[in-house]
Amino acid sequence: MGEANAEEGLPFDLNPMYEGERVRKTNMYVELGGQDKPGFELVLFEPDSEKVKDDEVSLIGPDLDEMEEGGSYAYAMIYTVYGEQIEKDLEAVIERRNHEYQSYIQGYMHLNQRSEIWVRISTDAMKKGLKSLKQIGKATIKLFKAELPFIEKMEATFITDEAEVEKRLEEANKIYEARDLKTRGLHDEDVDEFYQCSLCQSFAPTNVCVVAPDRIALCGAMSWFDSRAAARVDPEGPNAPIPKGECIDPVGGEYSGVNEAAVRLSGGEYDSIKLHSFLEKPHTSCGCFEVAGFYIPELDGVGWVHRGSKVSETPIGLPFSTIAGSVGGGKQVKGFLGIGIQYFYSSKFIQADGSWRRVIWMASDLKERVADAIPEDMKDKIATEKEVKDIESLREFLIKVDHPVVKGVVREVDGVQVTDGWATAAEEVAVIPAAVDEGVATIQTGVPVGVEVPVTSLLTGGTGSPIVITLKDANIRIGKIIVKKKSK
Ligand code: SF4
Repeated sequence: MGEANAEEGLPFDLNPMYEGERVRKTNMYVELGGQDKPGFELVLFEPDSEKVKDDEVSLIGPDLDEMEEGGSYAYAMIYTVYGEQIEKDLEAVIERRNHEYQSYIQGYMHLNQRSEIWVRISTDAMKKGLKSLKQIGKATIKLFKAELPFIEKMEATFITDEAEVEKRLEEANKIYEARDLKTRGLHDEDVDEFYQCSLCQSFAPTNVCVVAPDRIALCGAMSWFDSRAAARVDPEGPNAPIPKGECIDPVGGEYSGVNEAAVRLSGGEYDSIKLHSFLEKPHTSCGCFEVAGFYIPELDGVGWVHRGSKVSETPIGLPFSTIAGSVGGGKQVKGFLGIGIQYFYSSKFIQADGSWRRVIWMASDLKERVADAIPEDMKDKIATEKEVKDIESLREFLIKVDHPVVKGVVREVDGVQVTDGWATAAEEVAVIPAAVDEGVATIQTGVPVGVEVPVTSLLTGGTGSPIVITLKDANIRIGKIIVKKKSK
C-alpha cells in the first residue's frame, strides 16, 4: 500500500504487518493518552447522511509539529459514521476496530480501548514526513472504509486540547455506561448462542475469547449485543456465533459448545473453558484485559488490579505490569485471570470460586470505581493498599474483619463449601519456633511466579523435621525452595 499512500500524501506504510509494532521510549516522538494524560476513542452513529462530512478530519488542540518531542498529551478520537446497514448497536463494534486498523500504521502504536487508550508516535515516522494527526485520521478512515464496506460515510474529530478532552470524556463515559447497562438484564441461560472474537489472535494465537451475556469481553469493549451485531453485519469478520450446546456445569459456566470452540480456536491447545471460574479451566487472556486478577495461595483468596491503576504495588509485591505479563498471551493460566471491568457487575462473577466472598484485596481506585457492584456485607472485608502492604498485614486484616476465607468460603449460589479456611493453620503458625520463624522461602510456582513468601506463612507445624510445608487446594509446581537460616 506504500505507493498509493505516497500519492495521497501519507508518508507512512499501511499494512497489517505493523500490527504488534511497539514504539519504545528511545524512539518515541510523543505519547498520547496512556497513564499520564486523559484519552478516549468513541464511534457515534449518525442516522442523517447529510450531517456526516465524509472523509473530513478536524483537529482541536496542538498538532504533532507543535508538540514538544518526548512530551505527553491528551488525545481523543471521535468518529461519526453513516451507513444504510449501520445501527446503534454497531457503534462499539466499529470502535473496537480502531485498535486493529490504527495498528496497521507504520510508526504509530495504539493500545487498549475506550478511555484507556495509549498511543505513541515514533521519531522515525516524524523523520519520514509525518506532520499532522490529520494524516493519521485520513489513513484511519481509509482503512475503516476498505475493511468495513457498510460504512458509507465517516468523519473524524481528533482532540489534543486537554481541557476539551476532559470535557468530552465525561460525555463518552456516559455513553460507555449506557452500553454496559444494556447487557445487565440478560443472562447466559436466556440465549442459545454466545459469540467468539478472534481479533486478538494476531498477537495471542491461542486466545479463545468467548463473549456471553454474563461475561463481557475481557477488553471491556464487546458485550454480547455488540458481538451479535458484529457477527450479523460482518459474517466473515472476527465475531461468530458459538452454539451453547449442553450445559456441563451451570455454576462454573461450562458448555459443550464453548469447549468445542476452545479446541477449534486454540488449535487444540485447550479443550475446555469455564466462563465463571477463576481457578478451574479459566478463560484465556490475551493482552487487552482491563483488570488482572491474581490468586494469593497463602490466604486462599483473590486480588484485583486494573490497567492504569495509581497503585504501584499489590500485596504480592508485584505491580500491574508484572502481573499482566503472567496473565496475558492467550493462555489459560490457573491463578491469573484477565477480565473486563463490567464483569464485576455480573451476577455470575467468578461464582465457581465463591464470587465476592473470595475477593480479599483490590487496588483502592478500582474498589472505588466498582463500589456499587460489591455486596454490602463484603465492602469492609476487602482490603486495599491503604490498609495492608503485604501478605502478613493482609492476613491480619482478614482475621480482624472475619473475612469468609478465614473460616472457609461457602458459595452463595448453591451452598457448596469451596474452601476450608485457614484460621486453625494461622493459630498454629503463631507457635512456630523462632529459628524457623526467621526463614525465607523462595517459591517458584505457577501462582504467582517467583514471589518471595515468609516461610511461616506456609507452615502448619509438624513433628520430626522442624519444617512441614502444607500446600492445600493449590495446583502448584515447585521448581525451587530455598530455606535460609539466620546466622548468629
Ligand atoms: S479481547 Fe477478545 S473480544 Fe476484545 S477485541 Fe480481543 S479478542 Fe475481541
